[in-house]
Parts: sequence; structure tokens; C-alpha cells
Amino acid sequence: MKKHKIALLAGDAIGPELMREAVKVLKAVEARNSDLEFDLIEAPFGASAYFEVGHPFPDETKKLCDEADAVLKGPVGLSYEETQKIPVDMQAERGAILPLRRHLNTYANFRPVSLPKALAHFSPLKPEIVGDGIDILIIRELVGGLYFGEKETGTNPEGLRYVKETLEYDEKQIRQILHVAFQQAQKRKKVLHNIHKSNVLKSSVLWNEIVEELAPEYPDVEVKHQLVDSAATALCLNPTQFDVMVMENMFGDILSDQGGGILGSLGLMPSACLGDNKAYYEPSHGSAPDIAGQNIANPYSMIGSVALMLEHSFDLREEAANVWRAIQSVFADGYSTPDLSKPGSGVTMINTDAFGDRVVEALGAF
Ligand code: NAD
Repeated sequence: MKKHKIALLAGDAIGPELMREAVKVLKAVEARNSDLEFDLIEAPFGASAYFEVGHPFPDETKKLCDEADAVLKGPVGLSYEETQKIPVDMQAERGAILPLRRHLNTYANFRPVSLPKALAHFSPLKPEIVGDGIDILIIRELVGGLYFGEKETGTNPEGLRYVKETLEYDEKQIRQILHVAFQQAQKRKKVLHNIHKSNVLKSSVLWNEIVEELAPEYPDVEVKHQLVDSAATALCLNPTQFDVMVMENMFGDILSDQGGGILGSLGLMPSACLGDNKAYYEPSHGSAPDIAGQNIANPYSMIGSVALMLEHSFDLREEAANVWRAIQSVFADGYSTPDLSKPGSGVTMINTDAFGDRVVEALGAF
């Protein structure tokens, strides 16, 4: 019997709605395998944890994450207005997500931007641009850069309020994420787009130097350098040129959301946050307070994160592939959540829970 302990951090707004569907799918996977057991343990995390127990990343949640074989996390955060009710350093990103990433040292964030040809109609891009489908792996450095650097606020000698945030990387941090990216490129189409801003940022100059130093270790991988601003345009105009893209933390945060845009919805964006010893899995998007409580969020991002967890943390490749097949089959059968389709488009609109039910039903048929 293989036992896997999984920490479930449902998070805020649509987080619990999505987590319910993820749990359904995990239980369905478990039911299909007599030698598999998932020990699912919930813990508070995010803005809701702040209001319930006084801290967005409570010690007992930290302890559970340490003990668990993997962490599955829903999105956290509230609307801008609600967020103002929480002290700045206790707000969900600063108080929970960044400390989680630092604590588990999950430095490699895989954000697949994927739309098979059969689902190309969901993309806002023209069919001739989507071509045979989009299949990009964005690899984002996740524990360095501007988000983790020293911060300072105060009043300067002229009496003006100022803020200073530091973008810092050392060569070890850059090297470790680049090795991951080169290795993924080797497993895929052997092309690595290195996204940078070396015309302005010294951090990108060092980053690119290390790309050049490592490239000889991966002679079968072709490296293509692209400035982040032009990469943003290229993602819209010619996304199929990309396969593996690697970039620092903030560039990856922003470009991967654009990835969701070219697919048709952020709801199609799962992710894996990987370290050498620990990993956690979460949708790439936020907690979507604008649609919370309506049972209309797209759970693909969360169920896809389950598939990534099965593959990367438990090496359950066949089960992961089955989950992907099951999710795709819901769309192929003519269903979608409202984020992806307009009334009259010939697609039958279903809610979050019905989507999860259909994934479970499809899994049962394999
Ligand atoms: P968001 O990603 O929550 O939402 C942007 C848009 O995408 C909204 O219109 C939303 O309805 C839609 N959307 C997102 N996920 C969807 C899904 N699964 N199905 C259907 N539609 C979906 O971004 P935001 O509104 O800027 O941020 C809301 C909160 O989320 C903020 O507090 C922010 O700080 C937080 N946030 C958290 C994470 C995280 O937990 N990793 C990431 C980004 C933002």
C-alpha cells in the first residue's frame, strides 16, 4: 500500500470551491487503485486564516506542510477593498504565499500554457495563430528577485515618502533554476527561450552570463534570448514558436497570466512549485473574488494541479495522464464553465461542481 499525506490549503474566495473538486478527483483516483491511499488533511491558510486564527500562515499549517508528502493549495487573497482590512504584512501574498515558498524552497514554478487543437476555439486568438494548438511550459524562478528582496519605506531628507525594493539574485539561485529549464527543454523540443531584460537590468546581465556558462552542458538545446517586453507581444502574435520559456520571478508572474489570456481563461492555468525536497501545487491564478460563492469558477486549474502533483510528487504518471484525459474529455463532450464560452456558442455551460463530477465520471470509464 502506497500512502501519501497531502496538506490541503483551500485558501480564500473561490479556493474552497475549487478544492472540493480537487478532493473529489483525488478520491476517485484512490478508489481506482487498491494499493493507493491518500491521507488528506485540511489546514487554514491565507486571508481566511488571518481572520479565523490571527495569522495567514499559522504554525500548525507550517508543521503540516513539513510533514506532508505534498501540499495542494487553492488561491488566496481578497478583493482590494477587503484586503485593506488586513495589516500590510499579514495580507495573503506577503503573509502566506511568499513565506510558504521560502519555507519549502520551491524555487521552480512550472506553469503549463496548454491548449490542444480540439480546444482552440476557447482562445481569443485567431485560428491561424493558434494553429495546431498551444503547448508552452513557462518556468518561473519562485523564491528570489524583487518579491523576496529587502524592502524599506520611510521619509527622505526632503520630507517625501519613499519606498525601496531590492532585486537580488546570486549565481547559485540562477544556476539552479536554469538547470531545471535546460533539463525540461531536453525532454521536450530542445529549444529554450531565455526571457530577460538585460538592456536595462544588471540582474538580467548576470542571468544571461550564467545561461551562456551552462549552455555547453546541454549541447542539444538551442537557446534563444528574448527581451521580456517583446516576449509579451510574441506570446499573442506567435505563441506556437515557444516551447520552454525560463525567466525570473516577476517576469514569470506577469507573462504566465498573459498565458492564461491567450488560452481564453486563467481557469486553464494549473501549476507546480517544485524544490529539491518539497513541492506544492496551486492554480496560477488568484482567488477571483468577483465570482466567489457562485459555483461558476473553472476547476481545470485546480484539477490540473492535482495531475501535476500525481506526476511530480508521487510518480503516478499513468494516473496523472488519466486525470488530464478526463479533464479534456469534459470539454470534448461539449461542456465548459462560463469563463470559456459565451451563450449561443453551442457549448453546454456547466458549474464548478458539475465539471468535477464529469471528470470523476470520465475517470471511472478508463
Ligand atoms: P484573479 O486571478 O483572481 O482573477 C482575474 C480574473 O480571472 C477574474 O475576472 C476572475 O474571475 C478570473 N478567474 C480567475 N480564476 C478563474 C477560474 N478558475 N475560473 C474562472 N475565472 C477565473 O486576479 P485578481 O482579481 O487580480 O486577484 C484576486 C486576489 O487573488 C487578490 O487578492 C490577489 O492578491 C490574489 N492572488 C493570489 C494568487 C495565489 O494564490 N497564488 C495569485 C494571484 C493573485
